[in-house]
Amino acid sequence: MGGFLYFYPFKLQECMDQGKVRVRFAPSPTGPLHIGGVRTALYNYLFARQHGGAMILRIEDTDQGRFVPGAEEYIIEALSWLGIGFDEGVHMGGPCAPYRQSDRKPMYEPYARQLVETGWAYYAFDTPQELESRRKDAEQNGSTFQYDVRTRDGLNNSLSLSPSLLQERLESGTPYVIRFKFPDDTEILVDDLIRGEVRVQSHLLDDKVLFKSDGMPTYHLANIVDDHTMGITHVIRGEEWLPSAPLHVMLYKAFGWEDTMPRFAHLPLLLKPEGNGKLSKRDGDRLGFPVFPLQWKDPVSGEISSGYRESGYYPEAVVNILALMGWNPGTDQELMSMEDLIASFSLDRISKSGARFDLEKAKWFNHQYLLARTDVQLAGDLAPILRVKQVEASPDFVASVCGLLRGRVNFVHEMWAQGSFFFIAPQEYDEQAVRKRWKPETPALLSQLREVLEALPTFTPLDIHEAVAAFVASAQIGMGAVMIPLRIALVGGTFGPDLQDVASLLGRDEVLRRLDRALQVLG
Ligand code: GLU
Repeated sequence: MGGFLYFYPFKLQECMDQGKVRVRFAPSPTGPLHIGGVRTALYNYLFARQHGGAMILRIEDTDQGRFVPGAEEYIIEALSWLGIGFDEGVHMGGPCAPYRQSDRKPMYEPYARQLVETGWAYYAFDTPQELESRRKDAEQNGSTFQYDVRTRDGLNNSLSLSPSLLQERLESGTPYVIRFKFPDDTEILVDDLIRGEVRVQSHLLDDKVLFKSDGMPTYHLANIVDDHTMGITHVIRGEEWLPSAPLHVMLYKAFGWEDTMPRFAHLPLLLKPEGNGKLSKRDGDRLGFPVFPLQWKDPVSGEISSGYRESGYYPEAVVNILALMGWNPGTDQELMSMEDLIASFSLDRISKSGARFDLEKAKWFNHQYLLARTDVQLAGDLAPILRVKQVEASPDFVASVCGLLRGRVNFVHEMWAQGSFFFIAPQEYDEQAVRKRWKPETPALLSQLREVLEALPTFTPLDIHEAVAAFVASAQIGMGAVMIPLRIALVGGTFGPDLQDVASLLGRDEVLRRLDRALQVLG
């Protein structure tokens, strides 16, 4: 198997000949995609689009023990909601199909065997119990056990066993794994586009398992074989993979693929809002913001984790927020569409240090995207909420309500909290407001004002404003003496948009009805 050759499919060969950028997002389907993962996908997408390259979705499911049903579908739905598109992938096929590692399973074994034959890997027969006892022994001596240059000779593997014993083990079908054999004294250089040059001494590294006894490759082997056979040019991924990069670099060397080794770019972590440590699901729960793009229901516990989509964020806002967490355009510009991001993205301006999540800023972004929508679009966004509330209203009316509320909310669902009175007349009145603002003379004043409003030839905000102003002047009272009780009557409390706008939109009949009811209930 020494001369194992892989023939690239024609289309892939063409891309490679043309020097096209090819990147992949390679999640493991172990649960819902964290927003850190979404950011990784986004940066890959921006990089691919900017270079006219290909973006690939590959599912890395070699660790069957961690497989979670629904996770792959979730990943695809989340990225599609955000507008992060692909050119090839598990959900759409392409020249390197299949794109799910479990479907590529038969491909990997020859590569693992090739490394054994070329002396870059070896069979290891140690049982889990034997390894565990080594670990315990090391712990007792205050050290940590590692399968490496120093220890491998004393362990149970094809390097330490005599040829006849080895033969016997293999023939009797003793289970084994295949481990990478790090050279004794080589300096390994990882030339990272973000971190710069990272150097590691090979003898310090763990002889990682490449191929498991169950016939499955590990992440490391499958990842390298796939990146190579898929013609990947740039590996853009989270910083948590940086410690694996020296092994990956060595694997390219071992396979003789150094010439086409992808460039690496390890992205900084997304940090907890208060600073240290990786942003976790628990931080989100604790501080009231989602760490997942879409709501997720755990298939086993049934526990629900909130999502940006269900919390009312616009996908464009989420993209904008994530793009700026760890990268900046080099200008003061904050609001950036996907097109803007594609045009100005660059790996050079990704920071080395972690990026902190800022909830207030996230809300601000959503507010900006909300403001960019027309009233008619906002009415469409509000429609599902009105349906749940069983409210029926004309599209024009809903659009006008949105026009009055848009400046006051960060999320469309807040429009209901702030403006349900547009659709349902107040059933109760804010007690505190009534106590302070509904004076003994109020009913008489409001009754007079009612007549003024009833007599108005037209009922525009300006008509209402002028009529109230004239009434206040002739009655020689302050504006507040009628405006606040009128507001209480119309909205149920002392909140809401400008009163003349509210009154005009409700319409004269409704205003008079609400006034009558308040006078009746409050006296
Ligand atoms: N499957 C790995 C993950 O879940 C991918 C790491 C990589 O991009 O190489 O993050």
